[in-house]
This record gives sequence, C-alpha cells and structure tokens, in this order.
Amino acid sequence: MLEVEVRYRVADFEAVRHRLAEWGVGEAEEMWEADLYFNAPHKDFRTTDEALRLRRTGSSNRLTYKGPRRPGLTKTRPEIEVPLGAGDQAATLAEQFLLALGFRPVATVRKHRWIHRLHRHGFPMAICLDEVDKVGTFVELEILAEETQYDAAQAALLHTAAELNLHDKELRSYLQMVLEAEQGRSMSTRDTVHSIEPVNSGTQAQPPVDVVSSETPVVETIEAVRAAVAAARQAGKSIGFVPTMGALHAGHAALIRAARAECGFVVVSIFVNPTQFGPNEDYSRYPRTLAADRRLCAEVGADLIFAPSVSEMYPAPYRTYVEVKELDEVLCGVSRPGHFRGVCTVVLKLFHIVQPDVAYFGEKDYQQARIVAQMVRDLNVPVQLRTVATVREADGLALSSRNVYLTPAQRQVAPRIYQALLRLRERVATGESDVARLEADLRAELAAIPEARVDYARIVDADTLQPLTTVDSPAVAAVAVFLGATRLIDNIRLK
Ligand code: AMP
Repeated sequence: MLEVEVRYRVADFEAVRHRLAEWGVGEAEEMWEADLYFNAPHKDFRTTDEALRLRRTGSSNRLTYKGPRRPGLTKTRPEIEVPLGAGDQAATLAEQFLLALGFRPVATVRKHRWIHRLHRHGFPMAICLDEVDKVGTFVELEILAEETQYDAAQAALLHTAAELNLHDKELRSYLQMVLEAEQGRSMSTRDTVHSIEPVNSGTQAQPPVDVVSSETPVVETIEAVRAAVAAARQAGKSIGFVPTMGALHAGHAALIRAARAECGFVVVSIFVNPTQFGPNEDYSRYPRTLAADRRLCAEVGADLIFAPSVSEMYPAPYRTYVEVKELDEVLCGVSRPGHFRGVCTVVLKLFHIVQPDVAYFGEKDYQQARIVAQMVRDLNVPVQLRTVATVREADGLALSSRNVYLTPAQRQVAPRIYQALLRLRERVATGESDVARLEADLRAELAAIPEARVDYARIVDADTLQPLTTVDSPAVAAVAVFLGATRLIDNIRLK
C-alpha cells in the first residue's frame, strides 16, 4: 500500500474542527502516541529517506517500515506495517529484537492526536489533528491507496486541504522536526556530521550513532558567507551563485547543476525577499521548506546555502533601492509595481555579499533575467550571467514554487498555458506575424481555461521588452495568468 499524506502547520484546530462539524464528520478518536524511530545497522536512513518506527498507541503496538518518499505534491511513500502484541512487554520485546539486530534508536516523537475519519472525493481518508511535543500543531490528511489510485488520492487530499483552508504546508517529518528541536541546532552552527544520542530505550544504553547528514550546510550571516567564499577562493575555486526564494524544485536544481558544472564552489541563497512583494501578495504564505531545500541542494551538489534573516538583509533604517528604468514598466512591472525594484535591490545586495564569478537565472522569469542583465551592465557589476532553460512538468507546466497553491482542478488545466504558447509559436513558424492578431488569439485561448483570468499576454522585443507590431525580429511571448488566486507566468521565444 502507499501512504499518501500531506501535512499543514496550523495555529490551532478550531477552524478545521468547525468545518469538519459542518461536513457532519462525527466524533474524533483521541489518542496519545509515542513513536520510537530507529536507524538501520547497514545504512543510514537519513540519507536513504527510509524510516523504521515502533508506534505505541495506548497499549497497542505496531512496527512500521516506510520507504523513500517519491517526488510530488504530497508526501507519498510505500509502507509496510506489522501489528504486534499489546502492552509494555510486547513493545520492550520488539525493541530488544531490533537492538539485537543492530538497529539504533534515534528519537521519540510524542503526540496527542485526534483522528477524524471520513469519506471525501471518492476516498476514505483520515484527518489527524496533531499536537506534537516540542514542535507544534499540525493537520495531517492521509489516504492509504493502491498504486493505481495514486493520482486520484493525491488530488483528493489536496482538494480537501484547500476546502479546509490549509495553506502552510510542512514538508519535514515529525522526526526531523523533533531532532532539530532536541538538538537546538541553530542553522548557523549546524555541522554536516552530528551525533544523535539514543533515547532511553529501557534497555542497556547504546553508544551515540554518527549520522552523516545529507543536507547542505546553511549560514545565516553576511560575515559567515563571506568567510566561506573567501576560503573557497583562496583554495583556487571559482564561485557560482544561484539566488532563490527557496521551496526548491527541479527548476532550481537545473540552475544549481549548471553552476556545479562550471564552478568550484556553489552558493545558493534562500531568501523570501519582502521588498519584491506587493502589500496584497503572498509574502507571508510563500512556501518555506528549508529542511527539504537542504536535501535538494545536497543532492545536486551545492556547497553552501546562504539563508539570511530579513534584518540581516535590511537592517533598519534601510533606504537604498535599485531601479532599472523602462524594462520594469512593462509585463509584470505593470501589475506588480515595485516588484523589480525589490528584485534588483536584493540581487545587487546578494552580488555584493557573495561576490560570485558567475550567477545563474532561469528563463522562466524572462523579464527578471533581462532586467538583472541590464543592471549588471549599467552598474559595472563584475559577474557573468547565465540563463537556464525553463524546467517543466511532464505535461508542460513550468515548475514554480507557487504551483503548490493550485487546487487539483486548477493543476489539471494549468498546462494549457504552455500549450497556448506552443500553438502561438507554431503559428509564427508557419507564417503568421501580425502581433495584434496573435495576441488576441493567445489571450482568448488563455481566457478559455477554467478559473483563468489573464493578467497579460504580450509579444515583445526579446531585448527591449517593448511591444512589437510584427514578429520579424527576436521576440518573446510572455504571459501571466491567474488560476483562482494563484498567478502563474510563462514565456516562449518566438524567433
Ligand atoms: P525563485 O525562487 O522563484 O525566485 O527562483 C529562483 C531562480 O530559479 C530564478 O532565476 C528563476 O528564474 C529560476 N527558476 C524558477 N523556476 C524555474 C523553472 N521552472 N525552470 C528554470 N528556472 C527556474
């Protein structure tokens, strides 16, 4: 069976309980659970993304193996569960059995859980309200599904989460969060190798287990990133830099891989930059997934993450901003006034802080890449720029950290944005060059997508971003479309 689940952080359970009551969902099962996690003797589960758990719920006991998570919008992993005898003695025996085989206890996760069981969007699902010791309150939605039902189960969970108004997705496991809380590891002092003390297992104490972390180290201060970069430079390495806002996906990974291929030392910045968000935009709910980001960075070979706080980047009083004229007055600049001023300011600051030889940007944000290139040229910033082609889902949707906001229905129709761009390019390739006609058709095609509101659909000069009347020189079609409340952008080169 597959365990398909998705977890959200919440301030309290009131709104969710209220909505469940409206749906007529009955009394919750209330329970206290203690999950003792083990690491394997022959491999490190933290690097293989597996888990072995002895769960004690009241007097009942279960042993569960969880396989590696698969990429996707939910947390999905194969699960094998073995029921054990009830009571303390059975739990102790199971523990002794695992210890004898060389398994080592890692940590215990304790939670007070209310499970609501219901049937929604075609699936029996569990909605668990979890108060987890040391780490906070969460709502977890879960379906046990056959492989063939995976897509539908995932859609049902995300749809239900949206109906419950849950947005603050938490990608870390409870175990990860408990370990982070227990070790009180400040991000700036995390080592790549750390030691986990065994919990009191009721048997003989075990020696600490060394766990080699599969996460890229993180520094939070300008001083620390400068010191690391200086050391790399002194070792003769060139510096590659990938600025991001985190919630990393395969698009970011492509940038990091490009940097890895070309540079000796790769720095990724993760900073949700407040100055590039408008007052009614999604700054506070923008996804923040540092633990998962660290794993992705390690997988693709980044050497260091720079994840500064807002006050580190903008100490008060902050008064200096950078503007690139004209290029920021079209396309996204019209509907997001001040956005590129924020982008340019933070990118220039990051360039000064990291002082990279080469910096990498995605073509997905075409206007941004163009504006940064202009700024670098105008202000004589000693950095080379590279752009990396847009990475897309198999159905064509451009990867974006904001795709997680889409409801299943919106996600299903979202690829039509890129399909419309492909059709447009096809028409240009077969001889249509009248921009007014092409734009009108593109806009109409986008507007026909269910729940879509077209912000803009323009064909512009690839260099100046100014409007064209005919496509007879290098041109780009750029679009921004709201699907519900989520604004997606995409573009395609026409010539
Ligand atoms: P963000 O975290 O959204 O600020 O993006 C950081 C960098 O990743 C920017 O240079 C983006 O253009 C780039 N990027 C975002 N999505 C993609 C994608 N789907 N393919 C390629 N690059 C991307």
